[in-house]
Amino acid sequence: MNTFLYICIKNIHMKKCVKCTKEFDLSNFYSSIRMKDKLDSYCKACRYEHTKSRLKITRAQRKEKMLNSPEYRAKELLLKRLSFERTIRQVMLTRTKK
Ligand SMILES: [Zn+2]
Repeated sequence: MNTFLYICIKNIHMKKCVKCTKEFDLSNFYSSIRMKDKLDSYCKACRYEHTKSRLKITRAQRKEKMLNSPEYRAKELLLKRLSFERTIRQVMLTRTKK
């Protein structure tokens, strides 16, 4: 095979993960609409770890805030109510349209 062509194909089908800096086959990346090449900049393994750790932190932080701050608790409840009302409104709108 032509070496130049081979390199081209290799580059197209390989992508470097920005986290672990290893090169992987494109099948090792999740698709992402936000990215230029429509692929995640993290490989699947790194994305998984990243999401997992982030979820853990936010959940723990939220729980702590809910316990320690009545203001935060009130705000959370208000946000929850607002999003609920918004959903209701959307449902009503789609119903009247039909
Ligand atoms: Zn990675």
